[in-house]
This record gives sequence, C-alpha cells and structure tokens, in this order.
Amino acid sequence: MGDVRLTYAVDAAMELDPAGFLPAVPASYWREHPEALAPSGRIAASAGGVLVERDGRRLLIDVGLGANVLAPSLGVSQGGALMRTLRALRVPPQSIDTVAFTHLHTDHTGLGFLTGHGRKPHKAFPRADYLVARAEWEPFWNREVEVGAPSWEGFIVPMSRVLRRFDDGDEVWPGVTALITPGHSPGHTTYVISAGHGLRILVVGDAFHTPAQVEHPEWPSGPDTDIDGVLKARTTLLTQLRAPRTYCFAFHFGDQAFGRVTPVRQGKSHWHPEPARALLPAPIHLP
Ligand SMILES: [Zn+2]
Repeated sequence: MGDVRLTYAVDAAMELDPAGFLPAVPASYWREHPEALAPSGRIAASAGGVLVERDGRRLLIDVGLGANVLAPSLGVSQGGALMRTLRALRVPPQSIDTVAFTHLHTDHTGLGFLTGHGRKPHKAFPRADYLVARAEWEPFWNREVEVGAPSWEGFIVPMSRVLRRFDDGDEVWPGVTALITPGHSPGHTTYVISAGHGLRILVVGDAFHTPAQVEHPEWPSGPDTDIDGVLKARTTLLTQLRAPRTYCFAFHFGDQAFGRVTPVRQGKSHWHPEPARALLPAPIHLP
C-alpha cells in the first residue's frame, strides 16, 4: 500500500468461543451470521505479527502467541510458528530493526524472548528496539494487571532490561505514530501508518476482536479490562477509519484481517475485507 508493504506473519491458529470470549454478542447474531463461524461453531481467528517494510527497514508489530495458550474458557489455540513463518518469507530475525507492541497480552508477546540451550531469555529479534507505551508497561511492571499478563520471568523481566517507552502521539518509527486507545488493556496502542499520498493504515490491535464489533461497537470482549474505555476507543477509531484512503488491520479477524470501514445508515459502520494474497499455506493448525 503506497510506499509501505504490510505482511501478516501468522504465528498461531485460534478459535474463539462465542459465549466465553464474546459474552456480549447475542446468540441470535451467530445464528444470523453462520459465515462468521468455523465448522466447530467457534470464531476462526489467528495471532501473529504485522511486518511493515519501507526503505529497507523492517518494523514488526506484535509477536504472536508462541508457547502460550488461550484460557480454555476463551477458546482453543496452537502457536509457535512465527519464526518459521518469517523464515519462509525470507525475513531473518536480525533484519527486524524495531518490535512494537500493541499491548502486553500473551497472544501478542509470545515470541518476544527465546529461552533454551541453558540460556536466559534473550531477544528473538536481536537487533531490534523493543517499544511499548508507557501507559501499558507501567501497570504490568507494577503487577496491577492479571488478565492476559505474560510470564514474569519469560517476558516482563527481560523486557524491563531492553524496552523503550513512548507516549500518545509519538512517532515510533518513520511514518508510524502511536495512538493510545486504552480499554482492552491499560495502554493499548493503535499504530497509525502513513503510506504516502494520504494513505493510512491503522493497526488497531485488540480494540476489535471480530468484525461484528465494527457494526456493534457496544459489544465488548470478555477480556476487555475497561468496557467504557473500549467504547470510547472504538468511537475514536471508527471516526478515523471512516476517513477516505484509510485502511485497517485487525489481528483476530480470521481471513479478513485487512479491510476498510465505511459508514452505513444511522451512524453505523460496516467492515469490508480487503483482498489480501496468501503468500504461504497456513503455517499451523489446531490440535
Ligand atoms: Zn489478542
């Protein structure tokens, strides 16, 4: 798009339990939208990282689920394919110059640090700066957040040694600005990517988990920590996303991760998936 190339590097296969993950969505919605469900009756989703490439530089937004698993009440998952996916895309880990986190839940931080061979946790992307919003980092570092928190020894401690913090509105990478959209987590961050010629792509993290929430922003997700915050964040994002030449990436929208939002009647919004070419077969399957 414009002067950037975006690739969704898949790490994990996931299926979200409609009642467990999205208790606010009425069962009638799923009956009316069977196309939104996998054959199992759960919502098809995935986790991974968005690779942003421009002018020979590489930014990776989020790093998938890794060895973590979704709580059984939320759904089923199998992660750990990210490094393999990047290898298949011919993207060596050393070539990533920046890793930026939308938030610190386990399905976005999974492969930030590697262990094994008797080594302490070390950066999976050895040359990258690791960036997180100050408003996200501090509550996790102060152990004020339990829901979705990553391993203390496997992520928080090694992250504390390397992280760079940013604030709302900061440019975190050339042409990429942080928009703090708290609610799902305390400092949940949307990244606004300028792609030249007025084109923008918003990587909205987990402000939305399923396209139904674009049409119904009043339907929060089970793991959201601040429901009023989520609604406010979605209002801000939908206004921005309805602007011309603006595109969206949402991690958990299954095979509709790239798309556009258009206004429909009575102030409502509609999700239009943007055709995206699959570069690789699915790298991982549910057990
Ligand atoms: Zn997530």
